[in-house]
Amino acid sequence: MTFSGFKVVKEALTGHKGWRPLWRDPDPKPAYDIVIVGGGGHGLATAFYLAQTFGELKVAVLEKGWLGSGNIGRNTTIIRSNYLLPGNEPFYEFSMKLWENLEQATNFNSMVSQRGIINLIHTDGQRDAYRRRGNAMLLAGADARLLGRDELRQMVPFLNFDNPRFPIKGGLMQARAGTARHDGVVWGYARGADQRGVDIIQNCEVTGFRIEGGAVQGVETSRGYIGAKKVGVAVAGNSSRVMAMAGMRLPIESHALQAFVSEGLKPTIPGVITFGAGHFYVSQSDKGGLVFGGDIDGYNSYAQRGNLPVVEDVIEGGMALMPMIGRARLLRAWGGVMDMSMDGSPIIDRTGIDGLYFNGGWCYGGFKATPASGYAFAHLLATDRPHETATAYRFDRFARGYVIDEKGVGAQPNLH
Ligand SMILES: Cc1cc2nc3c(=O)[nH]c(=O)nc-3n(C[C@H](O)[C@H](O)[C@H](O)COP(=O)(O)OP(=O)(O)OC[C@H]3O[C@@H](n4cnc5c(N)ncnc54)[C@H](O)[C@@H]3O)c2cc1C
Repeated sequence: MTFSGFKVVKEALTGHKGWRPLWRDPDPKPAYDIVIVGGGGHGLATAFYLAQTFGELKVAVLEKGWLGSGNIGRNTTIIRSNYLLPGNEPFYEFSMKLWENLEQATNFNSMVSQRGIINLIHTDGQRDAYRRRGNAMLLAGADARLLGRDELRQMVPFLNFDNPRFPIKGGLMQARAGTARHDGVVWGYARGADQRGVDIIQNCEVTGFRIEGGAVQGVETSRGYIGAKKVGVAVAGNSSRVMAMAGMRLPIESHALQAFVSEGLKPTIPGVITFGAGHFYVSQSDKGGLVFGGDIDGYNSYAQRGNLPVVEDVIEGGMALMPMIGRARLLRAWGGVMDMSMDGSPIIDRTGIDGLYFNGGWCYGGFKATPASGYAFAHLLATDRPHETATAYRFDRFARGYVIDEKGVGAQPNLH
C-alpha cells in the first residue's frame, strides 16, 4: 500500500475501508542473518537501510513493547547538525542530508520541517564560541549564520532581550535545522523495512544472549530462542541493562528526561529556540502547542517519568527567556530514559564478542541522529567496517583517552 493524493481522495469518498496495517505482524522465525534488538528509531532505521542499501534480506527487529513506545515517540523532535568537533559534525550533517530526503526514501509523510534553530548568545565570550562553532559547521558542509541583536529582535520580538541577568546579544542560526514528527519517523521506517522483507516482531523482549566460544549464536526472548549470525543492539535508555546480559559494563548512565507541551496557541515561534544561559529549548508544533524541555533528572533511573524539581527548573528557564510563557497552560508532560554516555557522544561499534554489535549513548540528542545512526549501524553490521562519518564512535575511546569532548564537561551527564 502506498500513499498518494489519489489514494487519499479515493479513501475519503469510499469510507476509509481500503487502508491496511502499515506493517505485518509475523511470528519469529527460528533464525535470521541479522537480529536487531530494539524497535526504536535507531533499530528500525538500521533495519531499513540494511534491506534498502545493503541488500540484507533475512533481518528481524525485536521490540519488547510496541513501536514508538521508547524515546523515539517521546522526544521534542528537534533535528539539527550544529556541532563543533570533527568526530561529530560530519556525522550529524550526514544525518541532516538523510532527513532532507527521508520522505522520498520511505514514501511517508514524516513532517520534516526545516524551520530553523537559533542558539541564543548572552555574553561576548559566548559569541566567540558560537562564531567558532559556526565556522566548524561551514567547514563540514553545513549551514550557519551569526545573527546580531537587532536582526534577531525582528525575528523573535517576544524574547526577553533586556533581562538584566541574561541579556540576549545575538544568536547562531542553522536555517536547515528544524523538527520532524517523531512517530511519523517510526512508522515510515517500519513500513519501509517491512516492505523490504524485514520481520518486525513486537512484544518480544530479549532476555539473554547465547554466546559460545566467544561468538554470539542468537538471543533468548520472551517468545523463545531466535538464532542469529549477527546481533545489533539499539535499545537506547536500556543499553546498560541489555549489554549486562552479555557480560559487558558500559560507560553509560541512564537518566530520565522530561518534555512538556502547552495548550494550542496561534503561530508564535517561527523555529526552534535554545536559551544560552540556562537549559531550555522550545518550538511550536503544527497543532499550536509550545513544545519544550530542559535538563535531565539528576539521579539514575529506568522509569519513563521524571520529577517535580526538574519541572520547576525547566519552567524557570522558560520564564527567564520568554515571560509570556507564564500565561500558557501546560497540557501534557512525560519522560523518557536517556542513555547518557560519559563524554556526551554516542557509540556505534563492534564488541569483544564476535557477531555482537552495539549502538547507543545518544544522550538526549539521538532523534536527530536517527537516519545517520541507522545507516552507519547498517554499514557496520553489513561490512564489518565503520561508516566514514562514524569512525570516532568507538568503545575504546574511553580507555585510550580519545573522548569526543564536545562540551568539555567531563563525566557528568547532568552537565552535557
Ligand atoms: C523528553 C525527550 C526529549 C528529547 N528531545 C530530543 C530532541 O529534541 N532531539 C533529539 O535529537 N533527541 C531528543 N531526544 C533523544 C532521542 O529521543 C533519543 O536519543 C533516541 O530516540 C534514542 O534512540 P531510539 O529511538 O532507538 O530509542 P527508543 O525509542 O527508546 O528505542 C529503544 C527500544 O528498545 C526497546 N528495548 C529495550 N530493551 C529491550 C529488550 N530487552 N528487548 C527488546 N527491546 C528492548 C525499547 O522498548 C525501545 O522501544 C529526546 C528524548 C526525550 C525522552
